[in-house]
Amino acid sequence: MKHVIALDVGGTGMKAALLAQDGSVLFEARRPTGREHGTDAVVAAILDFATDLAEEGRRRFGVAPLAAGVAVPGTIDERNGIAVFSANLGWRDLPLRTLLGGRLAGPDGTAMPVALGHDVRSGGLAEGRLGAGRGVDRFLFIALGTGIAGAIGIGGRIEAGAHGYGGEIGHVVVRPGGPPCGCGARGCLETLASASAVSRAWAEASGDPDADAASCAAAVDAGDDRALAVWQRAVDALADGIVLAQSLLDPSTVIVGGGLAEAGDTLFTPLRAAVTERLTFQMPPKVVPAMLKDTAASLGAGLLAWDLLSMEVTA
Ligand SMILES: [Zn+2]
Repeated sequence: MKHVIALDVGGTGMKAALLAQDGSVLFEARRPTGREHGTDAVVAAILDFATDLAEEGRRRFGVAPLAAGVAVPGTIDERNGIAVFSANLGWRDLPLRTLLGGRLAGPDGTAMPVALGHDVRSGGLAEGRLGAGRGVDRFLFIALGTGIAGAIGIGGRIEAGAHGYGGEIGHVVVRPGGPPCGCGARGCLETLASASAVSRAWAEASGDPDADAASCAAAVDAGDDRALAVWQRAVDALADGIVLAQSLLDPSTVIVGGGLAEAGDTLFTPLRAAVTERLTFQMPPKVVPAMLKDTAASLGAGLLAWDLLSMEVTA
């Protein structure tokens, strides 16, 4: 059976799959990224994992994978297949496409086609084609994790912007002069509504240093007023960000994923209300939870690999 390698390289773990052309998962595997061993070891782990996946594909289906897709965090140059920078994984200007293509070369020495993608945009692509955005022409994907990242979906692809920073809704300033952000600005959305921001605020409000976003959500459900105040502050900031995006992009659907979205209705019910309350002329988007959870970026990387092959056929 025809298949491609799909690989998502995260800060702590790598998620991989062999993907059929219709997006169905034929095989799945996970491995640690091994960041504690240094950048060279991370790169070696990526190449080894991809090699083993290619071997798995050959063993299961009798043919080599046709291509590979890899999603990585940080700044990337998709066109040239270069992982430009990742603070988390420590690399600079890593020619991942060339490295992987060579390592996975066929017996005649022909490099395997490799697509390199940004992790959140790859996740957004998968949500758009296979998950909560299936059949939706224009959507905004927002991932609420340690930070907040996003992806703009248009007509079955993701708009990366001119410099690869399209969709960075986490750094929209919703509270001018607010908390300092890692990017250097103040009051960015991610300083108020990321899972980390909620964890920090709830730890402070509850006096429990181990309190996190999940325990805040549980306290909200139990009717704790302090938790409600922390939660509503995050929900309001998120609604401000979504309304800003709505005015600019007018998506029909906003897909919300990441750790904080696991709170389910505890998040989505007040969030939908806060968005609706703020709209004036804009048409309300559907605000829905992401469906693919932590495999989204890996699936998206596989879709990028299939897209690469279809482009080669058309070219
Ligand atoms: Zn920022």
